[in-house]
Amino acid sequence: MFEAQKREIIKAGISLDRYGLIALSGGNVSARMETGEILVTPSGMIYEDMVEDDIVVMDIDGNIIEGSRKPSSDTDAILYIFKHRPDLKAVIHTHQPYATAISLIEDEFRADLTTLANACAGSVKVTPYSSPGSEDMGVDTVKYLGSSLAVILAHHGVITVGTSVKQALYAAVYMEEAARGYLAARAVGPIKHLSDAQIQQAVDVFKYVGQGTGRIPKEMTKRITN
Ligand code: 13P
Ligand code: ZN
Repeated sequence: MFEAQKREIIKAGISLDRYGLIALSGGNVSARMETGEILVTPSGMIYEDMVEDDIVVMDIDGNIIEGSRKPSSDTDAILYIFKHRPDLKAVIHTHQPYATAISLIEDEFRADLTTLANACAGSVKVTPYSSPGSEDMGVDTVKYLGSSLAVILAHHGVITVGTSVKQALYAAVYMEEAARGYLAARAVGPIKHLSDAQIQQAVDVFKYVGQGTGRIPKEMTKRITN
């Protein structure tokens, strides 16, 4: 069951590796089906080696419906997120080094680069430290997400979410691109900030990027000066 969705999950995992967001079997990818089932990657397996049968199908309480693999060790956190955010269809966890590094020096990754506004719909909060494999990872994610599509788990990694696997994947990849730029600048000098209004403008404008929407209304892109 859900063969196409399982393939999409494995493909997303391979992309995490390709873009340097995980090494070997780090992180995990999960998705909620239209009919409510949750698909979760198996624990400790390399994405490239996974086949459809390795993806575990469970209900929202973690009862296994299909699959003989042990699901991700972060399953309690993943289920907590899906349970408390019924609007979400995908959760991705990575150990992306640059975004995670920000958790060692900041409590928030501010969207001073428009890439982050695009990827994550605004600034991204750093959660307090929680143990890998804990439900707390999910509790903190729900608490700190707000309207954004990501949180940084202090000293651990990143969780991104979306209404599709593609949206959660894009959030993770673009966030890492923004984190590289941010840390490069931070290493050599103080950071110049966008104002809240400029960040909001970038979030709004990016809703029109891509094929699914019309052209950006001109008045929306009027320059906002600090
Ligand atoms: P799993 O392989 O069990 O999903 O664990 C990876 C991980 O990132 C733990 O936080
Ligand atoms: Zn992890």
